[in-house]
Amino acid sequence: MAIRILPEQVAMQIAAGEVIERPASVVKELVENALDAGARTILIEIEEGGRKLIRVTDDGSGIPADQAELAFCRYATSKLSSAQELESIATLGFRGEALASIASISHVALTTRAYDESLGTNLRIAAGQLIEKGSVGAPHGTIISVEHLFYNTPARLKFLKQEATERQHITTLVTRYAMAYPHIRFRFEADGRETIYTNGSGDLLDVIRTIHGLETSRHMLSIQPVEPDHSRTDIHSVEIGGYVGLPSLNRSNRNHITLFLNGRWIQDTSLSYAVIQAYHTMLMTGRYPVVILMINIPPHEVDVNVHPTKAEVRLRQPETVFSAVQRTVRHTLLEQAPSPQLKAGIVWGSPDWAARRDRLMQATKNQIDQMNLGLRYNEASIENISERSETSGSEEITPRKKLPMMRVLGQVGSTYIVAEGPEGLFLLDQHAAHERVLYEQFMSERVKPQATLSQELLEALVIELAPEQLATVETHLDTLRDVGFHIEIFGRNTVQLRAIPALFVSGDPADALFAAISDVECGEMPGEATAEQKLIGRVCKQAAIKAGQQLSFAEMQALVRQLEQCNAPQTCPHGRPTMLHLPAEELARQFGRLGAI
Ligand code: ADP
Ligand code: MG
Repeated sequence: MAIRILPEQVAMQIAAGEVIERPASVVKELVENALDAGARTILIEIEEGGRKLIRVTDDGSGIPADQAELAFCRYATSKLSSAQELESIATLGFRGEALASIASISHVALTTRAYDESLGTNLRIAAGQLIEKGSVGAPHGTIISVEHLFYNTPARLKFLKQEATERQHITTLVTRYAMAYPHIRFRFEADGRETIYTNGSGDLLDVIRTIHGLETSRHMLSIQPVEPDHSRTDIHSVEIGGYVGLPSLNRSNRNHITLFLNGRWIQDTSLSYAVIQAYHTMLMTGRYPVVILMINIPPHEVDVNVHPTKAEVRLRQPETVFSAVQRTVRHTLLEQAPSPQLKAGIVWGSPDWAARRDRLMQATKNQIDQMNLGLRYNEASIENISERSETSGSEEITPRKKLPMMRVLGQVGSTYIVAEGPEGLFLLDQHAAHERVLYEQFMSERVKPQATLSQELLEALVIELAPEQLATVETHLDTLRDVGFHIEIFGRNTVQLRAIPALFVSGDPADALFAAISDVECGEMPGEATAEQKLIGRVCKQAAIKAGQQLSFAEMQALVRQLEQCNAPQTCPHGRPTMLHLPAEELARQFGRLGAI
């Protein structure tokens, strides 16, 4: 085929694909425009996950009548006039691409009125073509409605996820902007139901309370400025504000580390890592903090023009920002977080307790290593097994690594079972072992009728959820039902819980649901366990015998027998070891018996 220049409409649609990946991208562009226009109040309405309708209404500057049409042309912007200005961008937009892109793949209606105009303008555009233009009475500000997104790009349409997932992406996005701009009132309505409302008080903690709930906000610490370090004058140009969660407030993925750079939400693995590092030794492995950071640096220190949606940025001095983030977060934690060791009333099985146990176990393990006793478990095989069980989910195909028959000898510290086998001494973590047993029972019972899994509550429980939690529930309703949670959406931000997994009846049903929500929150990280597996792991964790619980001899024996039946007995469903092994020959070696008569 000969080389030809693509027709403009096709070129536009291709270009649009870069910026507009899904309905949430449209919301992002429209909200950013409203912010750039100095809006104080922004209303976002969507229908059917944004596919049918996205409407953003603001009370910003409006677009003058003679420029309304131009705003929809490619590279038409009021925010940039020379390449030089690119070096110090203070607005969220600057490429003049968004409106043109959106209009090329949807039906757009605009109503706008600039401050100094007495009449408003309205326009209708379909597939990039102007269909109607007129004057109307309208309030100051701008309303843009986007209907039938992707109607003329079937390839993109095909890749859209189900409505609830798209809605969740939009909820997350609005949540982020509401946090980044606490002095602006945000209202978000999905299918006529208001799910987010912030009051524009300017107080970030107010927003955190609305979005993450009162409980979470109580566990957040306000960022404390670090004492200036005179040897690091470079750090002075980095300003950091926001909130960091106490270590006890932790999650199973990094999605709750939210970073804003100069008012723009960014994705930056390295800066997220700086945050995680700041929590070093305060969190268990595999757990991540809840953090909201506002990082401000001089505009010329950052190039925002490297990513189509500007979610990734290039910093001129990444190490400077990295160390400023790490130092500030660490400082805030050390200054304000209560020391876990000194905290009274740690509850068995609580995250605090688990963290303490992990530290103790690590310390004990180090001591043993130092004594060169050679107490060991087969790390390689454990890693293999845990990897397989976390990612594939089908343990039926895991080659069965049989445990030897073991004879129970007793219990240590009400936490570990001591047993003897033909190959030496075994120390079992009773909680981890029971978790494994329950997990495999659960997986095999799933083929049985649902009734055996789920337990109806005597009285249905009405529970209030934060908007993001509700979105998560809606997205994973089926998964939650599969493991035994029967939930009905019940008005604004409330659900009715009718049944919970049978394994869970001894606990508080609401806590069970909260824990489950935190597990199924869409991680979308490759290699992570599926929402369902995580959820089942959680259910089993809650239901398992706790450490610190005295067990009778018969109970210990029963547990060891059940563990012997498991397909992957060496690890708990979260990948931690269930047992340590001190081989007979190692005992002999340590006692100088090797080769002795
Ligand atoms: P950019 O934001 O990169 O300039 P857009 O295509 O998003 O490009 O918008 C084009 C222009 O339309 C903006 O530069 C701005 O002048 C105008 N505009 C868009 N949305 C609004 C709004 N909500 N209020 C006022 N002006 C707007
Ligand atoms: Mg824009």
